[in-house]
Amino acid sequence: MGKTAIILEKKEELLSIRGLSIRFRQYKGGSGHQAFSQADLSVISGLDVTVRRGEVVAVVGASGSGKSLLAHAVLGLLPANAFLEGSIRYRGKELCPQDQKGKKKAFFRSRESGGVPGIALVPQSVTWLDPLMKIGRQVLGGRKTPEARQRMRMLFARYGLSGEVENLYPFECSGGMIRRILLTAALMDDPELIIADEPTPGMDASLAKQAMDELRGFADEGGGVLLITHDIELALRGADRIAVFYAGTTVEVAAAADFEEEKRLRHPYTKALWRAMPANGFAAVSGMQPYVKDLPEGCVYQDRCPYFSPACRGKIPLRSVRGGLVRCIRPFDREMRMEKEDSDPGWGMKTGNVPEREEAAYAGSEESDVFL
Ligand code: SF4
Repeated sequence: MGKTAIILEKKEELLSIRGLSIRFRQYKGGSGHQAFSQADLSVISGLDVTVRRGEVVAVVGASGSGKSLLAHAVLGLLPANAFLEGSIRYRGKELCPQDQKGKKKAFFRSRESGGVPGIALVPQSVTWLDPLMKIGRQVLGGRKTPEARQRMRMLFARYGLSGEVENLYPFECSGGMIRRILLTAALMDDPELIIADEPTPGMDASLAKQAMDELRGFADEGGGVLLITHDIELALRGADRIAVFYAGTTVEVAAAADFEEEKRLRHPYTKALWRAMPANGFAAVSGMQPYVKDLPEGCVYQDRCPYFSPACRGKIPLRSVRGGLVRCIRPFDREMRMEKEDSDPGWGMKTGNVPEREEAAYAGSEESDVFL
């Protein structure tokens, strides 16, 4: 295979999520007639993420930002009162077809609908394991061939699990062992895309690093990884791109390299996350993420944003800025000019101070790095 073919192969989209919204239909509760009427609770809206072959894309956000729901939506594991809108494509195939009447793109998916061949989940919760079944049987999952048993043992050895583990019950394993068992179970069918939902809590630093390196290695061998985590430092260890979630939506998608300097980031929340990292001062982000029932009109970050203006209460599209994506209406060219003047007085005069030229000088051409 020639070099060009390898590059094209690397860029094949495995997972493409566009404009995904998830809402749950619930009873309103209370007393009288009100108790039996229903209302929709929107928990994710306008969410966009792409994972290409050869990539690790990390979805980062605080608890309650909708990260795990994303994983369950891709695999059809949402409860029956969930409605999805938008598009989820795996290798070009739509996983969210229109409903049977074709009137609107909203439909139920459920645990019973089964998984998606080629996609494996490393789940967040240990409750995915049956407490009454030995580990080996659960990892084999009905596979009875000697090759399957051999693969399980090879994966156990790779993750530092002894041969005895297959004869243990989940309650006999530590939290770190359980995480590794879930990872080996996901790899049994040789998937092309792994969705890893908080795969490292309970592991010590070296095991977490090893788990991250394994996910990186999986991508380097031609797979794709959607890593869902609250641990931004872990994500930066092996991810190519970071999608930052806040209150159920994507507020920024940036190359991992952009996190080397705050000024390369775009959204005020991403910058606040950057400043909260131990290496960058450990500055707490003031305020709280709003509960899904109390989302404001317009920008979901407006209550905490130092740049808020009345226009932030309007529609806030995801737009391309310096090769990344950001859901914010701020004029980034002006901010960038000021930063460049700070670090290089006279920069505006030298460069002509033209916003379009500034963008190109900073991030290369528009075509070079657009990665929605
Ligand atoms: S849209 Fe407005 S409130 Fe939201 S992050 Fe941008 S400047 Fe802040």
